[in-house]
Amino acid sequence: MADKIITGIPVSSGIAIGKAVFVNRSHRSLLPRHTVPGHLLEAEKSRLENAFLMTGQEMESVRDKVPGELEQHRLILDSHLMMLRDPKLMGRAKEHIEILHVNAEWALEKAVSELAQAFLGFDDAYLKERFQDVRQVADRVQGHMLGTDQEISAIGGRAIIMAHDLTPADTVELDVSRILAFATTRGGKTSHTGIMARTLGIPALVGVQELENFVADGDMVVIDGLKGRVVVNPDEEELFEYNDLATRFETYQKKIIRRCLLPAETSDGFRVKVLANIELIEEVTSVIDHGGEGIGLYRTEYSYLNRTTLPTEEELTEKYIDLASIMSPRKVVFRSLDLGSDKIISEFGQLDEANPAMGLRAIRFCLRHPELFKTQLRAILRASVYGNVAMMFPMISGLRELRRAKARLKEAQLDLAREGVPYNPDMPVGIMIEVPSAVMIAELLAREVDFFSIGTNDLIQYSLGIDRTNPNVSYLYQPLHPAVLRSIKQVVDAAHQVGIEVSLCGEVASDPFCVPILMGMQIDCISLSPQAIPGIKRIIRQTRMDECRNLLRDVISQQTVGKINRMVKDSIFKKYPEELTFFASLLDSEELPG
Ligand code: PEP
Ligand code: MG
Repeated sequence: MADKIITGIPVSSGIAIGKAVFVNRSHRSLLPRHTVPGHLLEAEKSRLENAFLMTGQEMESVRDKVPGELEQHRLILDSHLMMLRDPKLMGRAKEHIEILHVNAEWALEKAVSELAQAFLGFDDAYLKERFQDVRQVADRVQGHMLGTDQEISAIGGRAIIMAHDLTPADTVELDVSRILAFATTRGGKTSHTGIMARTLGIPALVGVQELENFVADGDMVVIDGLKGRVVVNPDEEELFEYNDLATRFETYQKKIIRRCLLPAETSDGFRVKVLANIELIEEVTSVIDHGGEGIGLYRTEYSYLNRTTLPTEEELTEKYIDLASIMSPRKVVFRSLDLGSDKIISEFGQLDEANPAMGLRAIRFCLRHPELFKTQLRAILRASVYGNVAMMFPMISGLRELRRAKARLKEAQLDLAREGVPYNPDMPVGIMIEVPSAVMIAELLAREVDFFSIGTNDLIQYSLGIDRTNPNVSYLYQPLHPAVLRSIKQVVDAAHQVGIEVSLCGEVASDPFCVPILMGMQIDCISLSPQAIPGIKRIIRQTRMDECRNLLRDVISQQTVGKINRMVKDSIFKKYPEELTFFASLLDSEELPG
């Protein structure tokens, strides 16, 4: 038996077996404080200076290795270097060593907490944000002095990175030839860390609670990116099983990748479009390599995060044009900003909301900040002449909101026309269906847009009344709950009645148990993470449409999600026993209330 098995959220599939190496361990709780005798004060100050110097050298070498396309990360590292070289932080810490006779780590911590008071007292979101930079820089210097952490760049082969969190600067340092996988305590399904793992193609788990309590440096660990498990010091039998699973996973991946460019067509001739969800444009290569027929959801808000200033219209336009032209003639659906809730940008300060998921989020946030919205709309419109571009608004809850969003788009179009800037006046405009009110009036909304995209991640959260990030209620997060199934069907039917396309871009689209049911509903298109595309395409190609319709008919008349899950599992398991070993399903929970 393994010493311990802890669970987390799988964000990048695969199996890795290796040695745990901790990075970015939170030093603050471990910081020693001791008195430095008078005759050693100068030596202590030199130790501090030396740590600043070494940290600077390391950061420079990391910055120089950042590939050109990750310009944003380079800018963050540059601003950290500036912070490090600003004499004030080190100067203040030296004063504390001199006056308080304390060790350098503690003196630096005291200097940082004084700065925190000053920064956080400002009534300016930009200045508040700068404090995070100071904190990260100080963490690095302290890590150096304590010598507790490995630097990511110095990690030997077959390492599995364990961290409380990984910053963008950390993730660009990951060398996939030496690092097999990672697990972090923080992070959710859509965290930056997960995105980078998928881009790098290594297994990863986030949200692993108590990682630091159960895993020690040097422990042998298995990262099971299929079931979301960290197996600590497995016994021989477990090791043998995981080795076997890893080999089978690799063989399976090779097999499905070879055929991923084939269309997603059922064996009786029905086509479903399979597009990709991306968060960063660096993922484009992965989309094409995994057989994505286009981009069905570009979560544009990610390029607003991890930075201290808002992107300009020029910066966005350049980025969007790149994306549209690289993908052309394939489609790219830009989702307008889904900021708010867990995706906060410093310019607008921390919103003081009791229920952020139901607060000023997505389209509501954009309508509240028209300048921010307009900058993005202009950039999307300007890119629309460079490829097959469409756009959609997230979280629309009613007609009035939709009309207001469309009015903003119209204004941006008129401005561009006045300025003689070209844009495609026929660019398709759609909405995401993510709240129950939009489901109820889908037939009204359908008359005013060009397409629907169903966002089941949120639709399930709002329909079943459960916070999608709260592990206490995750057992209720059931994609095949009768209410969810009926909602999706109602939306698909409403769209088809007026002849518009309907897509589905939540995690449900990469779930092998759910996709046949969606096909039975005649969904036109699914959009999922690039990595999951080959497997889902393979399932579609082995399926017959009449089977999907029969399955849908059988499940839609059931009363409980427990019954539905069992029926679906039985039917799909029978058909794809091999495939299902290699998928992480949303249906895995043993508790199936309903
Ligand atoms: C969704 O809600 O299903 C969706 C695709 O949007 P996001 O996950 O970005 O909220
Ligand atoms: Mg959503």
